[in-house]
Amino acid sequence: MNKSILLHICCAPCATEVVENLRKEGYEVTGFFYNPNIYPKKEYDLRLDNFHKLASQIDLPFLVGSYNSKDWYQEIQGLEAEPEGGKRCKICHRMRLNHTAQIAKDKGYEAFTTTLTVSPYKLSKIINPIGKEVGEKHKTKFLERDFKKQEGFKRSITLSKKYELYRQSYCGCEFSL
Ligand code: SF4
Repeated sequence: MNKSILLHICCAPCATEVVENLRKEGYEVTGFFYNPNIYPKKEYDLRLDNFHKLASQIDLPFLVGSYNSKDWYQEIQGLEAEPEGGKRCKICHRMRLNHTAQIAKDKGYEAFTTTLTVSPYKLSKIINPIGKEVGEKHKTKFLERDFKKQEGFKRSITLSKKYELYRQSYCGCEFSL
């Protein structure tokens, strides 16, 4: 029997390669689109639409978290001027992974992980310890990975073209615009 995993998905292009990869490893993947960081709402809707488009093409079961952007602004308060990759990003990653861990635990998935490490701008040495930390907090297993390895990012570009997905030009929040 395949192992069940809840995959936090930041956007459709990053999900392409990661879902393919996890399925090859024998995981039964459920996507979880949870990104209250995305600004403006129009951009959030566009990324969510593209996620729906991908999910139907690759038969991916999924859940969508709430767009609780007010909570996100509260979490990162005081860190608005931080550079990309700095303290604000750690809080942003933790908020999204913490909620994913909580849902994974509540719904009985065997593990959870995230698409974030497929990006060349997101370091696994930053993401993985956060995943581990929130996994321990919720008593659920975080699958540590660096999906950009073995040309993972290049593969995500190829697959995004195949599925005709929109690829954004900034990370997500208004401070990265
Ligand atoms: S730059 Fe990206 S990771 Fe950092 S806070 Fe903004 S949306 Fe989150």
